[in-house]
Amino acid sequence: MNAAVVLPVPVSRAYIYEVPPELADRVIPGARVVVPLRRRNVVGIVTDVVGPQSSVGIALKAIKAAPDAEPALSPALLDLGRWLSDYYGAPLGLSLRALLPGPLWSVARPAGPAPAAERLFVLTGNGVDSLLERERRFKRSPKRRAAYETVEALGGSAPVSHLVNQLRLSRNSLDALVEQGLARIERVPEMRDPFAGLSSPPPPSLTVDQQAAVRGILDAPVDMPVLLHGVTGSGKTIVYLHVLRHLVDSGKGAILLVPEIALTPQTVARVRGVFGDQVAVLHSGLSDGERADAWRALRRGERRVAVGPRSAVFAPVQRLGAIVVDEEHEPSYKQASAPRYHARDAAAMRAQLEGARLILGSATPSLETLDQAAQRRIATFALPDRIGARPLPPVEVVDLRSAPRIPAAETGVIAWSEALDGAISGALERGEQVILLLNRRGFATFVQCPACGNVPGCSQCAIALTVHQTPPALRCHYCGHEEPIPETCAICGHVTQKLRGLGTQQLERFVGMRYPRARIARMDLDTTTSKWAHHHILDRVARGDVDILLGTQMIAKGLDFPNVTVVGVVDADTGLHFPDFRAGERTFQLVAQVAGRAGRGPPGGRVFVQTRAPEHHAIRAAAAHSVAQFAAAELPLRTPPYPPYPPRTGLVRFVIATDDHARTAELAEKVAAWLRRAARERLDGMLTVLGPAPCPLMRLKGKWRWHVLAKSTEPRVLGRVVRAWRAKAHRAVSVDRDPQSLL
Ligand code: ADP
Ligand code: ZN
Repeated sequence: MNAAVVLPVPVSRAYIYEVPPELADRVIPGARVVVPLRRRNVVGIVTDVVGPQSSVGIALKAIKAAPDAEPALSPALLDLGRWLSDYYGAPLGLSLRALLPGPLWSVARPAGPAPAAERLFVLTGNGVDSLLERERRFKRSPKRRAAYETVEALGGSAPVSHLVNQLRLSRNSLDALVEQGLARIERVPEMRDPFAGLSSPPPPSLTVDQQAAVRGILDAPVDMPVLLHGVTGSGKTIVYLHVLRHLVDSGKGAILLVPEIALTPQTVARVRGVFGDQVAVLHSGLSDGERADAWRALRRGERRVAVGPRSAVFAPVQRLGAIVVDEEHEPSYKQASAPRYHARDAAAMRAQLEGARLILGSATPSLETLDQAAQRRIATFALPDRIGARPLPPVEVVDLRSAPRIPAAETGVIAWSEALDGAISGALERGEQVILLLNRRGFATFVQCPACGNVPGCSQCAIALTVHQTPPALRCHYCGHEEPIPETCAICGHVTQKLRGLGTQQLERFVGMRYPRARIARMDLDTTTSKWAHHHILDRVARGDVDILLGTQMIAKGLDFPNVTVVGVVDADTGLHFPDFRAGERTFQLVAQVAGRAGRGPPGGRVFVQTRAPEHHAIRAAAAHSVAQFAAAELPLRTPPYPPYPPRTGLVRFVIATDDHARTAELAEKVAAWLRRAARERLDGMLTVLGPAPCPLMRLKGKWRWHVLAKSTEPRVLGRVVRAWRAKAHRAVSVDRDPQSLL
């Protein structure tokens, strides 16, 4: 007997191995096996067991081991892997690799890692919360202040090694802060897992709308996907949990997908509050060993419910009864490397393969999902009102071109309307909390020489370097390249360099000066690099230790703080003019979602959206909290006579990237020519090819990038195209079906 074994590498073809008789009962499709490859042993997945006749006279190598009593991949998961490969045009090897956690691909069983003791630098929070006190305490020690503010921006604590080695803070200033009593050093085994042992009981009763949604979902045919379309704060989570409780009580298992950023202790506590130890939480903080343990517990049926981000869609839940995709519109559900799957669509396929329910939820569903709902291929259940009959907060659109503003003498480059300013001051006086969204991190967007206009850019990516202040550097937001902030212009030698554009660091400084008594926290990619930083920040907000939370899109998602009464969108236009057909949709979702953070408690709330495009349909619909209004304006723009875009057509993007610009352009021409020929000769003209053209981000991480778009209203046609391309397997070309970004 021989077995076809697929290895976790970028090829689709299986390798044939001989099955030793003693392993015969374990070597079945879906099983992990250890096989020799050149001089190493590697883990592969059996996809087929075939008769000996197929090995025409070649001496085959034998399988070395089959470590699991039960196959790692069930027949349904193996089918899902094949679907990923066929639908997304990804090599089968990579598609199967995505189905199992990393440690299961290593030949040795991973040992639980010994938690290394770590020196943690922790701010004590002793009375320098406001800017006034800060000016006093740090009058003669700007370095110490910079160190203090860096740690503060990191959530109030960080490993000493990180501060000294990566952020290059001096040990002297750290020691001085400890001597001043402003910080202390803690020895900790490792950062505390904020998910450990959490549980909060569900609300004692469901609202009438929630009951109707639970009943409606359970009564819908199992093979009918459902959309729970509930406004922000309408209590969607409890509806999911009730439905899942019902399924688990009848002996089934379930998966709850949430965007990584929304996987907060609050969310986990709610799920554990209903399911207790039946839950496995698959979060990014797990060690390899913990991840493998969680996987095994699910595989053996010891845990029935898996909660986690994107990849949890592959969790080996037994007797799967339902998959919930919360915030189904979230772009983070799309995987950025092959297989470039969308977790919502993978969930739909898996649900179909296993006869499980698919439940999508959002306050701002994607146009793809709305379109399916309009065609009655998805059943919609609505939660039109907030819990406790609280109104959705009124949204004031502030036209920055004409609205009264605080004079520039006080605000510098920041456009600050009197309306927002007054609302913030009022909220602070009443002891309420404020959320400010600015979807651009760093201090300024770029540096520019006022004499010659030169803007320093990244040498690896065609993009301006962003100015950072904590710690000071110019940084590339795409590849991480870093260089000192220039004092003189590299081109003309002029000495004063101007900072242009506004980032969260500058906003933080401005807000600190404008509202000197307010305690401020900033949340963006730069303050959340250490493992649990983002939970520490949100903890402080929840405890009421923060008056103003400001940050990028991270703060727009899922937060449920009843004392937040004012939400300000500092500049709604940051993403509106991106060269991407989803620019409007993303702006709508972001503004509508952050608006939904206001007024979740008894004091109510208000939202201020500062913009220079107040008439844009994305802004107007967000102000009305109306996805229907947005879709009504946006869909026609994606429909002929305009160039069609999803959901009006299917889309595949081919990205060509090499070290050499001419070679990239040449290869892109070839890809386009190949597609056009296929369209003409084999696809009856049912494929439209656009390009080749340079990508909006033409240079990225040292590579030159061009792209070609292929459109068709027939999914079958796009399937044929990506599979034909898969067979050609060109390293420099990546295929992205249903791309979430065209940059
Ligand atoms: P959404 O995800 O729709 O924005 P959540 O599920 O986060 O809303 O619920 C919003 C808030 O309402 C949460 O604090 C939740 O605990 C509370 N809540 C939900 N359902 C009920 C209920 N039936 N009774 C009381 N409070 C509820
Ligand atoms: Zn770069």
